[in-house]
Amino acid sequence: MKGLAILGATGSIGRQALEIAGDHPDRFRVVALAARRDVEGMVAAARRHRPELVAMSDPGAAASVREHLRPLGIEVLAGPEGLAAAATAPGVDLVVSAVMGFAGLEPTLAAVRAGRTIALANKETLVAAGPLVKAEAARSGARILPADSEHNALFQALAGVDRAHVERLWLTASGGPFRGFTPEQLAGVRPEQALRHPNWSMGAKITVDSATLMNKGLEVIEAVHLFDLPVDRIGVLVHPESLVHGLVELADGGFIAHIAAPDMRIPLGWCLAYPERLDRAYRRLNLVQAGTLTFEEPDRRTFPCLRLAEEAGRIGGTMPAVLNAANEVAVEAFLRQQLSFPGIAQVVESVVTVHRAVPLEDLETVKAADAWAREQARRVIRSISR
Ligand code: MG
Repeated sequence: MKGLAILGATGSIGRQALEIAGDHPDRFRVVALAARRDVEGMVAAARRHRPELVAMSDPGAAASVREHLRPLGIEVLAGPEGLAAAATAPGVDLVVSAVMGFAGLEPTLAAVRAGRTIALANKETLVAAGPLVKAEAARSGARILPADSEHNALFQALAGVDRAHVERLWLTASGGPFRGFTPEQLAGVRPEQALRHPNWSMGAKITVDSATLMNKGLEVIEAVHLFDLPVDRIGVLVHPESLVHGLVELADGGFIAHIAAPDMRIPLGWCLAYPERLDRAYRRLNLVQAGTLTFEEPDRRTFPCLRLAEEAGRIGGTMPAVLNAANEVAVEAFLRQQLSFPGIAQVVESVVTVHRAVPLEDLETVKAADAWAREQARRVIRSISR
C-alpha cells in the first residue's frame, strides 16, 4: 500500500488524484490532504477518503473544517506549517504537489527535504526555485516525478535512452483557444473566452496561462531543471490535437514520442503507480478516429509570454521567479477584468525588463524576488489601467 499526501486536494489535479486513489483501494491509502480554503471540498474529500491528517493554509477555513471533521477524529492543522506537516506526515510515501502557484513551493520543499517521492504538478516550484529544489533532492534522496503531461511524456520517452544521444526535447502545446488570432483580435478577448480550453480541463490560472502560451514557457523552464538541458535544446511545437505530449529527438535523427488522450488522469496515474503502472486506462485513444496529427511553429510575436519565459530561463537566477510572480499577479488582474489579455504579457515584460537577476542563494532570495515582482506588477497594472 502506498501512502499518499495530496497538497491542493480540492483543485482540479487534487480531485483527479483522489479519484485514482479511490479507484484503486488495493494500491493507495490517503494519509494526508491539504488545501487552501475550500471548506466544502475538503470536508467532502475527507469524509470519503478518511485521511489521518488534514491541513488548510487559511486559518479560518481550518477552524471550520476542524468543526466538521471532529466526529471522524481527523486531525486538522492550519497555516503553512500545517501544509508542511501534511507533506511530511508519517506513512506518506508519495506527495502529490498540486497547490496552485508560488504557494506550492514551501510545502513541496518540505516534502523534498524529508526525502519523499513527489508527483509534481505545481510547475511554479521548479520554475521559481529549480536549483534549490534539486540541491535539496540530491541531499535527501527525494525523487521528483513529473505529473505535468508534457514532462511526464518526456520522462517516459527517455527511459532507456542514453542522455548523450539526446539532440533535443520537444514540448507540445495545444495553442489554446486563441491560436491563429491576430493581435487586434486578442485585444478584446474576455476571461470567459480564455477559460474555454479546446482540449484540457484544468484550473483557471493554468487555463489562462495556456491561452497566453505562458504555460508552455513555464514548462520550458521546468524541463530545463527536470532534464538538465539548456533552454535552447528544449523546443516547443504547437500541436492542436493534444495527443502527442512530448517528443525526444535523438542524435541519429529518430524521435520517440508519447501519445495518449488528453486526460490528466493518465500522467497522474502513472506518477501514483510508479514504478509500476495502472492496469486500466481512464481514456483509451483510437488512433484511426484521432485522424491527422499536425504540428506548427508557435507564434512568439503574437504570444510574447513564451518568448519572455524562454529568455528568463536563459538568464536564470531570480529571473524565472520574477517572471512567474509577475504573471500570477497579471493573470489574477485579467480574471478580475482589471487588465486586458495582451496586458498580461505587457505587465510581465515591464517587470522582467527592470529586474537585475541574482543567483539563487537560498529560499529567502526566491521569496524576496517573488515579493518584489508582485509589487512591481501591481504598480504596472495600476499605471496601465489608469
Ligand atoms: Mg502541461
